[in-house]
Amino acid sequence: ETARAPFLNHTWQAGPLIAGSNNANKSQPVQNPALPADQPGTVATASAKDVDTALASAHPWEASRKERGVILNKAADLYEQNFGALFALLAREAGKTQLDTVAELREAVDFLRYFAANAPKAAPAGTFTCISPWNFPLAIFTGQISAALATGNAVLAKPAEQTPLIAHEAVKLLHEAGVPRTALQLLPGAGDVGALLTSDRRVKGVAFTGSTATALKIRASMADNLAPGAPLIAETGGLNAMIVDSTALPEQAVTAIIESAFQSAGQRCSALRCLYVQEDIADGLIEMLTGAMKELHVGDPWELRTDSGPVIDITAQSGIANHIAQAQSEGRVMFQMDVPQTGTFIAPTLIRVNGIADLEREIFGPVLHVATFRSDELDEVIDAINATGYGLTFGLQTRIDDRVQHVSDRIHAGNIYVNRNQIGAIVGSQPFGGEGLSGTGPKAGGPNYMGRFLAVKNQGSGH
Ligand code: ADP
Repeated sequence: ETARAPFLNHTWQAGPLIAGSNNANKSQPVQNPALPADQPGTVATASAKDVDTALASAHPWEASRKERGVILNKAADLYEQNFGALFALLAREAGKTQLDTVAELREAVDFLRYFAANAPKAAPAGTFTCISPWNFPLAIFTGQISAALATGNAVLAKPAEQTPLIAHEAVKLLHEAGVPRTALQLLPGAGDVGALLTSDRRVKGVAFTGSTATALKIRASMADNLAPGAPLIAETGGLNAMIVDSTALPEQAVTAIIESAFQSAGQRCSALRCLYVQEDIADGLIEMLTGAMKELHVGDPWELRTDSGPVIDITAQSGIANHIAQAQSEGRVMFQMDVPQTGTFIAPTLIRVNGIADLEREIFGPVLHVATFRSDELDEVIDAINATGYGLTFGLQTRIDDRVQHVSDRIHAGNIYVNRNQIGAIVGSQPFGGEGLSGTGPKAGGPNYMGRFLAVKNQGSGH
């Protein structure tokens, strides 16, 4: 109790970290999504003037490749030494469970060490804007900026509006490790700050993770306002499917489904959205699945027994609740759990659909759509999954080796998982990224990723 009290009671203050005078807006509270009474801190958002100051003072990181590596490794050490505060922020600001929190901290440290060790020897692009989402507020934030920094760029980082506190802590640690303040600046705010940071000619490239709709807006703005050929590295949404055939091991399939659909309250771009079960085993499998769902604990992420926490905020909660209400009115809700009435929780829910084409958009929460198929319909199912235009993750549960080959050859997905869950990536050995509407590639944490942060030769890198 006493050991965790400092981080449970602490209040953090975030604001712009820029090389120049600060003209931030008035501070606003940041909300813990699980506990309405808990506000872990306040944030002062960047003004248009702050964005201009940051752009004017941004300067590529002029250390040698080796020195940059030493400093990024030092930052990784500092992340590890500040585990307690970062851990508490992931839980209190982002509503992450203890399991998710530990995994995310490890991933953030892995990104720092991987990019520190693998920086290519080449010229930086100049000033890079990095725009990150709230669902991995430390790992994705750190992955983007450390790749851009390892390649010597000046970085302007804009965290998601829901999770500025942990971004502020991370940038302070990177500065403390020795990254110059002109090479890494933080501009908290919402989409308006992001729009300013992706429409100024002084910006030479953009790394973005978030919704497909926002990525398309950024692409249009870059085409209108930035130099031709300025790279956009985008990681966006998915409509991810899993196929379970009648040879699958039921216990293994159910475990994989539960983790893929409901871990992190379904708020992962890799999460399973549409499950296809072969007709002849469907009733038994769904019964096992609902039985396993009843065993899940949904609640305060700070409690060790919690499997799944809240969704990020009221806007997310009401959007998902509307989707469920619609299905309810059509009699398609197959099962729904009980969850806490306070905090922005959504009950893990199963919804019956005819197929993935019934999903009009990605529902970013603990909602799993379920369809069935006959054995002679397998290729049709694959075509329907490909026809969504997304291509992030795909799961297959089968014991037929030829089928693994057949399905893997046909499916368009950046990451294919067989007989396991379909969430999670490993920096270096298992890079993550999608195709089509899911992103531009190359995969984050893979060998070709950092090359995108370098100057395009025939375009010139003058600033
Ligand atoms: P999500 O559904 O994950 O909130 P968004 O695409 O809305 O996805 O948000 C991802 C990031 O993009 C956030 O940091 C958000 O503030 C930022 N953002 C939103 N709109 C814009 C925009 N028009 N230009 C640049 N960044 C934006």
